[in-house]
Parts: sequence; structure tokens; C-alpha cells
Amino acid sequence: MRTIFSVLALALCLAQLSIAQVDPRWKPNDPDRPLPPVIEPGTASTEDAPGRPPSDAVRLFDGKDLTQWAGADGQPAKWTVANGYIEVVPHSGYIHTRQPFGDCQLHVEFAEPVPPVGESQGRGNSGVFLMGLYEIQVLDSYQNKTYADGQASGVYGQFPPQVNASLPPGHWQRYDIIFHGPRFDQDGKLLRPARVTVLHNGVLVQDNVELSGPTEHHQRPPYKATPDKLPLSLQDHGNPVRFRNIWIRELGEGQ
Ligand code: MG
Repeated sequence: MRTIFSVLALALCLAQLSIAQVDPRWKPNDPDRPLPPVIEPGTASTEDAPGRPPSDAVRLFDGKDLTQWAGADGQPAKWTVANGYIEVVPHSGYIHTRQPFGDCQLHVEFAEPVPPVGESQGRGNSGVFLMGLYEIQVLDSYQNKTYADGQASGVYGQFPPQVNASLPPGHWQRYDIIFHGPRFDQDGKLLRPARVTVLHNGVLVQDNVELSGPTEHHQRPPYKATPDKLPLSLQDHGNPVRFRNIWIRELGEGQ
């Protein structure tokens, strides 16, 4: 019986760590409750032009330069910037944000190469690596069959998207990602796993899924203790995928 209670207590504790609950300090409709900050919302992108990020977002790429990004060992990022987008330079390496991020709302737009080259995982492969460890797959999944948990907007090797909402290559596609990173105690024990929600072109494809650990090819390794924030990465998988209008909003506890 005692075991059951301790398991229940742990479950409750984990739930409190990961799910926002009504704050008992405030009555319903309490006029004394502090108001949220006022921000200016962003605008939608069109095929021709990226939209404007919300006023409280950190712009990670505004169409001009890669100053927010680095290559391996902090060297300048070697990907191309042209016409308002970044293009992967095949075999030049992943790029990483200079600033670390953890819990966040992330917006990324990408376009797949025209004409399509290769098939399955070889066609337009890149990836958005949250904390550099958890990949939301970027792939040309328009009429391109591959394994389910490796197609566009999949959590690589763990969760296929609920639907395939891919556009044909050449069109600007968007990911809107809500990510809550894992937490560890002082001894490195996992307190809560990472969770992610993804919208692909405005369609919900990952609904608050719980990651088993870092994403890897043909493996599901367990979590290893990390800081709450690590650089965000974009993958060089040898294909010239383009990115634009990348912005991020850091989330505080309770959001
Ligand atoms: Mg990839």
C-alpha cells in the first residue's frame, strides 16, 4: 500500500512539474490579478515574403545574416545567405544558435529543393534539433515515401506526424513548435521528460508528445542530464534545404 501511495505522490509531483494548474492565490475574475504583458502579434508569411514575428520574439534569422548562428566549435556558420533565406551548404556541418534555449515557442520556415533529387531520407533532409538533441525532421515528404517516424515533422525515430501536411518542393512551409525541455535533479535523475507540440503548415501533427530521450538513427537512447538550455541546431544532411523567418519565444514556468 505504501508503494502505491509513493507512486501516486511521485505521479502528482511530476504532473505539477509539467502541467500548468489554476493558481489558488487568485479568485475567479479577480481584479487584483496582474495583467499579462501587452505585445504586438506577428503577421502571416506569404509565398513571396516572410511575415513579421511577434514583438517579444528573438529573431534568429531575419533574412540578412547568420550572426546568431555558429558552425562547429563556435566558428562562423558556413551556410549561404541569399535572397532573404539561408541555404544548407552540403557537408559544411550543422549550424547552432550562439544563444542557448530550452522551453520555447519556435517558428521555422523551410523550402525543399526544386527539382527534387533523391528519394526517401535522401530527399531534402535537414532537421530542427531542439537543444541540439531532439530532432523535428525536415524532409521533402511530398510524394516521397519513407519510414513513418522519419518523415517531415516527425519526432525522428519516435513519433510519426499525425498527418502528412507537406507542400510540394519549392513552397515555403512552416513549423510552429512548442517545446518543454526535460528537467533533472541535482543527481542527474530525470524529473520530467521533454514534450513537444508541432504544427506543420498550421496543422497539428504532434500533440504534446513525451520524448523517450534524444533522437537518434535506429536507436532510442535514454536521457542524460543536461542544462535546461542548450543551443538549437539545424541539420546538414547533405541536401540544399532553405530556411527563412526563424524566431523563438522563450517560455517561463507555468506557460
Ligand atoms: Mg534530418
